[in-house]
Amino acid sequence: MSRSAHPAGPRHADVLPEGHYSAPPADLNALDSKVWARTVERGEDGVVTVGGISVTQLAEEYGTPAYVLDEADFRARARAWRTAFGADADVFYAGKAFLSRAVVRWLHEEGLNLDVCSGGELVTALSAGMPADRIAFHGNNKSPQEIARAVRADVGRIVLDSFQEIARVAHIAQSLGKRQRVQIRITVGVEAHTHEFIATAHEDQKFGIPLAGGQAAEAVRRALQLDGLELIGIHSHIGSQIFDMSGFEVAAHRVVGLLKDIRDEHGVELPEIDLGGGLGIAYTSDDDPREPHEIAKSLTEIVTRECESAKLRTPRISVEPGRAIVGPTAFTLYEVGTVKPLEGLRTYVSVDGGMSDNIRTALYDAEYTVALVSRTSDAEPMLARVVGKHCESGDIVVKDAFLPGDLAPGDLIAVPATGAYCRSMASNYNHALRPPVVAVREGEARAIVRRETEEDLLRLDVG
Ligand SMILES: *Cc1c(COP(=O)(O)O)cnc(C)c1O
Repeated sequence: MSRSAHPAGPRHADVLPEGHYSAPPADLNALDSKVWARTVERGEDGVVTVGGISVTQLAEEYGTPAYVLDEADFRARARAWRTAFGADADVFYAGKAFLSRAVVRWLHEEGLNLDVCSGGELVTALSAGMPADRIAFHGNNKSPQEIARAVRADVGRIVLDSFQEIARVAHIAQSLGKRQRVQIRITVGVEAHTHEFIATAHEDQKFGIPLAGGQAAEAVRRALQLDGLELIGIHSHIGSQIFDMSGFEVAAHRVVGLLKDIRDEHGVELPEIDLGGGLGIAYTSDDDPREPHEIAKSLTEIVTRECESAKLRTPRISVEPGRAIVGPTAFTLYEVGTVKPLEGLRTYVSVDGGMSDNIRTALYDAEYTVALVSRTSDAEPMLARVVGKHCESGDIVVKDAFLPGDLAPGDLIAVPATGAYCRSMASNYNHALRPPVVAVREGEARAIVRRETEEDLLRLDVG
């Protein structure tokens, strides 16, 4: 089991029983459209293409490993979320899943808003022209400098995460002569896991202010009193890679309960409610995520129903999908370096990247699939483990997967659904050069984040 918490939230869900893998697929050359970006297909010559460009051409031009991102798919998913929620709600893309200036422009063009959670993400958003009023600023320990920068830029909202931060943001806003729009992030006691959720009274995690023990109510009391703050709503984010809407149902019920208490105590009906992100995607053929319009319908119904029974005006809803937009749009392209069969166990396939470009397998026991993409093969399936080139035995990219038995050095293989939390969590471990993100669209490719170079590495090493 995974021991580590997701940076996004409390506990994590991408966990499978030890030794889990499915039987070999009927056809190893087939590409399941559930896990691959929309324009990915295998050409007649057996080579996989995306946006009309072959992976062999991409490998030649940009090298491997590389993240290859299907721009049309990204835009389509962003638009689907926007359309599903309509004009009476807001969709904030969670920038931490993957952020670059090109992505910011696409989001802007498709009518989405943007979540940032650091000064670095904020500067990326602003420098690519995202209007500040469409930016939400998150984080459990924003520095005074980061807060001042966000307030000066007039970001649309700062999501307050602690009592200290309520005072800190109020003070900074006031000293800058501003009134900052804020939400308060509360924890409602819902632990969301992939296929289940647990409703508890308390939540043992660093994010948010607990609803339990009247803490959230006290936070609201303070925020309403401070001149530097305009409290616009309550925020709740329950986890990640969630498929089951019932966790949101419990969360919405508890948030609306707080809104009702606020109305009763202060005579104020807060106009907004943010239900966070965490919607699941298909990493393997076993996952069945819901479509944005189903999610929108279900969340809207839940909030409306809860508000009706509490006799509250229904607040404006916002959501914050990250993974569900960018995750499925990219795959990581690797070249096979060595193939090492271990008698009676499995075959270790070493690629030219690893935990430096995808830490999720090591960190969360995340599950991925993989396919041979530079050719087809009729060879028998072999049980493989795709590993990286780092000095660490936990350096695993795909734990259990079937690949053709004739796989050889020089073949290109690709791991789908790596658009979220891979480049954004990439490291320089072993002084690896972080791979580029190559965006492909209608027969054209361009690096939207270029590959790191040895000069980049040495530039920071001032001797
Ligand atoms: C991480 C995070 C998200 C996005 O989570 P996904 O699983 O990528 O959808 C949204 N809101 C908050 C507050 C987060 O921390």
